[in-house]
Amino acid sequence: MEIHVDHHMYFAASRRPEALIAKLGETAAPVRGDSISTGVNTSEPGLIPNMNIAAQTAAISDKKETIPVRNMFLTLTGSPGSGKSTQGKALAERYGIPHISIGKILRKEITDGTTLGHLVEPYVKSGDLAPSHLIAAVVKNRLSQPDCKNGFILDGYPRKMDDTGCMEQITKDLGINNLKMVCIKADPEVIIDRLKDRRVCDNGHEYDLKNNPPKKEGVCDTDGLPIKQRDDDKPETIRHRFEVFKEETLPVMEYFKSKNQYGEVNGNAGIDVVGKRLFELLDPKEANGEQ
Ligand SMILES: [Zn+2]
Repeated sequence: MEIHVDHHMYFAASRRPEALIAKLGETAAPVRGDSISTGVNTSEPGLIPNMNIAAQTAAISDKKETIPVRNMFLTLTGSPGSGKSTQGKALAERYGIPHISIGKILRKEITDGTTLGHLVEPYVKSGDLAPSHLIAAVVKNRLSQPDCKNGFILDGYPRKMDDTGCMEQITKDLGINNLKMVCIKADPEVIIDRLKDRRVCDNGHEYDLKNNPPKKEGVCDTDGLPIKQRDDDKPETIRHRFEVFKEETLPVMEYFKSKNQYGEVNGNAGIDVVGKRLFELLDPKEANGEQ
């Protein structure tokens, strides 16, 4: 059995389950200075004030080499606005596997005015979860593509127990037997404060009114399209999404936990700190206990 151990295998410590569980437990617990319950988090270690999200992401990926993996089938979940998709992209780049955002696929369907787009639009706009059967077909189709054979970062699915049943079937059909869930957990007030100044154009160019405003007010520098606050970023939507997250997604996390296929990191810190925590949780050599 030892002979077959692949050091690039995701969660290679599965041959040492106790070590892995201990490691996940450690990472899940708040570390000194990590947890913020009040106020603005500019003093948070790793948060670079005056630096926009894109630049921080670039900073993460610039200093990291690609670590090729096999069998890293990962579903990424997180509190609303926890930077999940930014982190998902960084993880995908680090491990050379695709980042698959279900939210992004659905938003494109809505923009393109497809039948699916019309069906899911009310759910996406209100922050509620779309019916499982609509999403499952999209997910299965995407995960069947050849670029997913060594692994993927599936961002935003499954989000509720119904999805989880569909996902079980999808992984079974595709011959994937080791899907793991990783969660970025954050507090609502931290997230509301972080997102209140974010604006985007329809092409997805992001601005921060305080730290990275457009040259001309209300207009994208790149394409001249109007920039606006995404419904997703409004405080009332964020609060609602936290409620939905608690009711619908917590049971999914519990389910993955019960199968020992779960890990989490504290998402209240700056993007680069959270990114580092994720790498520490997932890097194959780290999972083998080498530093
Ligand atoms: Zn733009």
